[in-house]
Amino acid sequence: MQNTFPILQQKDQELFCNTYARYPLAVHHGKGTRLFDFENKEYLDLLAGISVCNLGHCHPELIQTIKEQSEKLIHVSNLFYQEEQIRLAEKILATTHLDRVFFSNSGAEANEAAIKLARRYMQKVKKREAYEIITLEGSFHGRTLATLTATGQEKFKDGFYPLPLGFISVPINDLESLSKAVKEKTAGIMLEVIQGEGGIRPLSENYLVQVQQLCRDKGILFIIDEVQTGMARTGKFWAHQHLNLKPDIFTAAKALANGLPMGAMCVSQEVSQGFDPGSHAATFGGGPLVSSVAEKVIDIIHRDKLCSQAEESGNYAFNLFNQLKNMYPNIIQEVRGNGLMLGIECKIGGQEIWQNLLDQGYICNLIQGKVLRLLPALIISKKELSGFSQALEKILQSFSNK
Ligand SMILES: *Cc1c(COP(=O)(O)O)cnc(C)c1O
Repeated sequence: MQNTFPILQQKDQELFCNTYARYPLAVHHGKGTRLFDFENKEYLDLLAGISVCNLGHCHPELIQTIKEQSEKLIHVSNLFYQEEQIRLAEKILATTHLDRVFFSNSGAEANEAAIKLARRYMQKVKKREAYEIITLEGSFHGRTLATLTATGQEKFKDGFYPLPLGFISVPINDLESLSKAVKEKTAGIMLEVIQGEGGIRPLSENYLVQVQQLCRDKGILFIIDEVQTGMARTGKFWAHQHLNLKPDIFTAAKALANGLPMGAMCVSQEVSQGFDPGSHAATFGGGPLVSSVAEKVIDIIHRDKLCSQAEESGNYAFNLFNQLKNMYPNIIQEVRGNGLMLGIECKIGGQEIWQNLLDQGYICNLIQGKVLRLLPALIISKKELSGFSQALEKILQSFSNK
């Protein structure tokens, strides 16, 4: 198996559209919180496929579900009634205040569904010519043309103009700019409770409550993108539940089926009337295989009390990282996040620190050039978290001696 990495790297460069800046690592297999490369070097995975494998890699019960369901039915299309999809819908909706769900295959598609539904609800049910969605600067909502237009970061839009009409972004935690942006044509406001891709930036609690109120006052839709924050990641099943917010629509994906592609848009009975048969669809959405896996994921989150575990482990890690911040105030700017969605912002040396961690067998990712983003599996142990923290401490120490 020696020297497999350079061969894979070479082929990768020849075969694919050059869309990914890959890490210098080829993963051979995974188990729980661990990944292994082709030389069987072990890594602690603090990224979990970007908040996807919340139950860890190759979870034995999910393997069993995949085996059993794949022998029964894999795909049949949404022309048919499907018990797996119905069971999942019941379980997902039982975690929320909302009434209806639409299944897609990704986060972008779930957001696309939310945007389309917001427009159609306004135009067909409310009989208003409202279509504009207001989003926040620094947000991330996906890569389709509509969702990348909704995304409040210019770098993702470069070279893709002209973009669809009907989107505008305003600064975060600034109620005045937001209120001013609401016009006759506004259909809704869409935001992440903690901006993930934008650098693990939690919105202020006051602001979130006021945004909901503004939506109610103006008769527009309150839409929350829970693609990264959802599925117990922050210590509640959905991050908006920390503040008891009641969005009209929220979207999920990433961890929904622990690695099989799946997205969902949850919506109130009232707003769901915006769609009629034929107004929206997804060939693969909510198929029997992914649905049975997602159902199992939800069962395990409840049974193993992973919300409270994420909260407790998250608090534990947050305190460790803050101690590091106090010890190395010249290197660490701030520690942010909630539950097991944590960001460590570096003043200097982000790239080097990240690379050192990887060399030592710790996988996280660096976003916005300076924030170490940690989204480990929710089953990660305190021992693993403190091991990471100690490794980081040593790196910071050698860094500050330079
Ligand atoms: C990852 C992400 C998306 C896009 O999800 P895809 O499955 O890649 O389309 C949308 N919103 C947020 C908040 C995300 O983190």
